[in-house]
Formats: sequence, structure tokens, C-alpha cells
Amino acid sequence: MTTTSQTTTQVGNYFVSNYPPFSQWKPEFVHEALAVLDQPARTEEPFGLYLHIPFCRKRCKFCYFKVYTDKNASEIEVYLEALIKEAEYFARTRAFQDRELRFAYFGGGTPSYISERQLHHLVNGLNKHVSWDRAEEVTFECEPGTLRRSKLEVLKEIGVTRLSLGAEHFDDELLAANGRAHLSAEIYDVYEKARSVDFPQINLDLIAGMVGETEEKWRNAVKKSLELQPDSVTIYQMELPYNTIISQEILKDGKDSPIADWPTKQRWLNYAFDEYQAAGYEIASAYTLATKKKPCRFIYTDALWHGGDMIGLGVSSFSHFSGVHFQNVHSFEEYVSLIDKDELPLLRALTLTPKQKLIREIVLQLKTGSLDLKYFQTKFGVDVWAEFKSVFEPLKQDGFAEKDDSFIRLTRKGLLQVDHFLSEFFEPELKAVRYV
Ligand code: SF4
Repeated sequence: MTTTSQTTTQVGNYFVSNYPPFSQWKPEFVHEALAVLDQPARTEEPFGLYLHIPFCRKRCKFCYFKVYTDKNASEIEVYLEALIKEAEYFARTRAFQDRELRFAYFGGGTPSYISERQLHHLVNGLNKHVSWDRAEEVTFECEPGTLRRSKLEVLKEIGVTRLSLGAEHFDDELLAANGRAHLSAEIYDVYEKARSVDFPQINLDLIAGMVGETEEKWRNAVKKSLELQPDSVTIYQMELPYNTIISQEILKDGKDSPIADWPTKQRWLNYAFDEYQAAGYEIASAYTLATKKKPCRFIYTDALWHGGDMIGLGVSSFSHFSGVHFQNVHSFEEYVSLIDKDELPLLRALTLTPKQKLIREIVLQLKTGSLDLKYFQTKFGVDVWAEFKSVFEPLKQDGFAEKDDSFIRLTRKGLLQVDHFLSEFFEPELKAVRYV
């Protein structure tokens, strides 16, 4: 299995976040996305909205997202206007009629980068076409240095239920070395203010294995994050996709990877799991722990990982709707110009076969640490263990997975390495293709 052979964090490592691989989504299938939007939705699946705000104060050295650090206020306003028009376009489609949003997710980039005035303008504009008044979860991603009390109050006012704070670490030297725009003092300041504004759920993001990470610094970061008592914590293991500043430096200078190897990062994540569990949190997925003190669900990932529909608005955004994947164009200018012409700014699409829908749910739900056999039998009419025996048996033999009458469960060892074996479930012809 790749789990044991691949130990260094190499340039080009990727994270399985969807299936089939993005490289299989093609411009020639865009008409399939348009066709599905012109039909009443074929599904009773939960429905949500993702809004991409691609602006940041500074580009972090490990960032692989489409972000802009050079846009001025008027360019940002042009973009927000385009988001509103895109929402209006979708609201006119047949597929959107009679569908109620269960979740909304403001991601990026840094959604909290935009000003209070811009936020009000965006939300007032969007609300003419879509409403998240009855949504169970509205998530807003924040960078600590972009928040102040008045902005937090606006976020509460527009219905944010889950504030996700990108702390990433608590060591100032390490934050600076990795190009983060904030320092630890801003995390403490904003966290206290956010608590007093009283959001139903506050999540802290951490990254294990940033450049300069050591055993001691990581233990300290876990301790400091726990002292804040977040409702949930999301912990990523540092990856090195091609388009990060760190990867480019490695490729240019021929240096060794400055990122800790996978076994070390898995050990750090394991340590965090143990510490958080000892403090009364439970593991919700390979990346997330939630407090047991109050109900903490993650409607966004729960819906997506169970085949839910989601429309993504904004440059490069991804959507999954009625069994079709589609993605918007990558260029800011092209996105704005297509919206201006009242066209959907779609770049590429793919209609999933029934087998691909099944594999997609298996790989995504394995990230929760278990597969409910009855769920798959009812929804897809298959015994997943029997169907994928050639993958599950070796996982079981290697101590990554276990099975009882109702569930396939990953062991802790399996959960910590889940992203390394998910591609084993891919169709044979899609195992060797580029992922992105
Ligand atoms: S804040 Fe997030 S989105 Fe922005 S550059 Fe850093 S990692 Fe990328």
C-alpha cells in the first residue's frame, strides 16, 4: 500500500477531495451542467451554497488556492456584484425552484477580508435571490487579523452560525516563516471578541507540519488551542501541491522538502487527537474534533460527503448538482466578464456514472472514519465490502480497517493516513490519471 512506502512530503502530494479526479472534468461537458439546471432537480438531497471570496491580505507560503492579494476596493466591489448576479442567474433556473438552503458556506481566500459595508452590500444583494434564513448552518471562514468587534457583529447579524478561525498555529516565529498575515496576539484578541458576540459554534483551524515545526512547538500549539476551548478544531497535515510558494522554491533551488515527513505529521495529529479526546472532545473526521458539551454538527461536509447538492458561486468555484460536477473559470477578469454578459461562467463539467457516485461517497465518507453498510445498501443497492473486497481486505490485514455487521470502520492508524489510500478505490482507468 502507498501508506507505508510514501514517507516524505514531496512536491505534488495532493489531497483527495472529490471523485472523479478534476482532470476528467472537461469543457465539452459544460452543456450537461446547463441541461441539468434546466430541469427540475432530480434529487431530494440536501442543498447548499458556497460563496468564494478570493481575497487575502498576503499569500501564505503553503497556499494552493486561487487568491488575490492585489485587488483594490473597487475591483472587490465589481467581484461582489458579479457574485450577486451569478446568484440571480441560478435563482432563475428550473433546478433552483422550491429548493431550500440547508447550509451556506463563505470560503476563500479570506471572506473576512471584505469590509462591513461590502458585506452588507453583498448579503443584501444575495438575499434578493437566495435566502439562508432557514439554513441550519452558515459558516464563515476568517483570518484573525481581519476581524474587529464591529465586523463580528455584522457576521452575527447576517446569520453566521459557525465562525471558522484560521489560527493555524500559535508560534509567532513559525506563523511569520510560513507567510501568515497574523500573529498569535490577534488570535487571542479575536477569539475573545467572537465569544462575546456569541456565535453558536467557533471552530479553530490548525496545521500540523508547517515549515519550522518541531515536537515542542506542536505540543504547545495543541495546548494553547485547547485552552481557548473551541467548539471544534480542524487539523490539517501540511501538503505540498505544485502551486505553493514552498513547492516552487524546492523545484527552483533543488532543495529538500522543508516539511516534516508523513509519519511525523501523523504522530503530531495523533497527539492532538489524544489531547483533545482527554479534554472531552470526540473525533468527527480525519481532520476534525468536536466538543461533547453541545451538539456540533458539520452540515456542510455531512451533506457534501453524502451526495448533497451544492452550488458554488465565484471564480474557480466547484458545484455538484443532480449528479453533475461543474467548475467556474479560473480567471477573475473572465469570470466578471461572462457574468456581465449574463452567461454562467462555467469552465468544465462531468456527469457521474452510478459507479462513480458510489465511489465518490465511499472515499468522502471514509474521511469520517466509518461507512454505514445499510446506508450504501439502501442508496446504491450494494454490499460495499463485497464490491471493494480487493481494497478492504488488504486494509484490514494492514490494520487500517475493521468490519462488523453494520459498519466498516477505520482504526486510528487508518484514519490518520486515510488520504493516502483513497485512490485505491478509484476505477482502474482513473488511478493513473492526473488528479487535478
Ligand atoms: S489565508 Fe488561506 S486562502 Fe489566504 S493565502 Fe493564506 S492559506 Fe491561502
